[in-house]
Amino acid sequence: MSNGVSRELTWIVTSLWVALFLGWITEQWIWVLVGYLVFYITRQLFSMVRFEQWMRGSAKVPYPPTSGLWGELGYLVSYKQRLLQKHADMQLAKSEQFLAASMVVPDAIISIDGDHQIEWFNASAKKLFKLKQSDTGRKLETLLRHPDFIQYLKTFQPRKGLILTTLKGNSRAYQLRLFRYFEDHSLLIVKDIHELYSLAQIRRDFIANASHELRTPLTVLNGYIEVMQDSLTEMSLWTKPLKQMAQQSHRMRSIIDDLLTLSAMESETLTEKPQKVRIAEVLQMLQQDVAQMSQDNHQFVFNIDTNLVIKGYLEPLKSVLTNLVSNAVRYTPDGGKIEVNWYQDEKGAHFKVTDTGIGIASEHLSRLTERFYRVDTARSRDTGGTGLGLAIVKHVLERHQAKLYVSSQLGKGSTFRCDFPKSIVVSDLIKPS
Ligand code: ADP
Repeated sequence: MSNGVSRELTWIVTSLWVALFLGWITEQWIWVLVGYLVFYITRQLFSMVRFEQWMRGSAKVPYPPTSGLWGELGYLVSYKQRLLQKHADMQLAKSEQFLAASMVVPDAIISIDGDHQIEWFNASAKKLFKLKQSDTGRKLETLLRHPDFIQYLKTFQPRKGLILTTLKGNSRAYQLRLFRYFEDHSLLIVKDIHELYSLAQIRRDFIANASHELRTPLTVLNGYIEVMQDSLTEMSLWTKPLKQMAQQSHRMRSIIDDLLTLSAMESETLTEKPQKVRIAEVLQMLQQDVAQMSQDNHQFVFNIDTNLVIKGYLEPLKSVLTNLVSNAVRYTPDGGKIEVNWYQDEKGAHFKVTDTGIGIASEHLSRLTERFYRVDTARSRDTGGTGLGLAIVKHVLERHQAKLYVSSQLGKGSTFRCDFPKSIVVSDLIKPS
């Protein structure tokens, strides 16, 4: 029992004894008891009023507001208040510490609410975007009107981020990433990646230039090899070496072409503009090429939605389809089956190639799209592979916000599926004439 309660009980017992003693002396039991009750209730009301005044923060009532039970309550309330205050002080200190830490972060950080209105920004953001305190509440879109950024805000893909090569008059490369927190609040983090970006650009340019430079001498060599092959008789000693030279120069040509396609895919701006691509027509042409490649040694099944059209880059998309179908032919032994599907569902458009070929062990699956990654280098080379096909597929698909899924079972076959988003499906109503 607390001190306050025991004091209150002692007071009640003592005062009751006094009242009973008075009643016994005066023999006016009723009046004495009524008087006692009136006194007790008045005393409680007085304590209650003082307690209430103290709770309201009246300076006239010192602590504790009163004695007895109400005093005890006052003590408990003030103890809890002190605890809460301590907790609040600690939280405040922590948030001040966090704010101070975010101020020294070199990345620009801007917090926005669900309506994209600026709530808070750090010192780097202030400097980069020339922000003033009065910009709080302003829409983020009015601060950064870049169309790619507006699109990024709409689609919200935090993992991917957005790279801008100029920002607020600065010709530097920045990576912008949005992260959601507290339900509909978001954090925009802008990182200066200029050094890294420049190095990657130098590497890309070097590969593109070197490939380009190698193309011309290789064409000349190829030309001479063909002329020499034509002028030799079947029995010549040079027939075999020249055939090998022709094969190797053809391989080099394929590698150079693939490297050029890859660097074109990686570059910021493609020379080609996006257009309506009738995949069914591309596949029709491809059908003849792969039949030739297979030399009628495989069974082909084509399930093509001829009305399904997407918006994209024609030549890169052609190379995706060619790479996936020709891989199926190259990695499927004679007599195997290859199924090509082009279809649509509620999620978007899908291109799927399934083969009954050699399959791929699961440990290789995550690395297939790396440049020059081959499960079996000898087989890849023998069948004219460059090791760049799936890297090209990955890059082209990224350009179309599409994804590649691979499933495979060693010795049983593989399935390569490209998922194109609904947003690039143009129409499924155009019927071919
Ligand atoms: P490559 O020119 O060597 O075929 P790719 O980038 O097209 O290069 O493919 C990378 C590797 O993935 C190949 O070397 C091969 O080992 C494996 N691969 C690709 N497609 C298939 C498939 N349909 N079946 C089995 N393995 C495949």
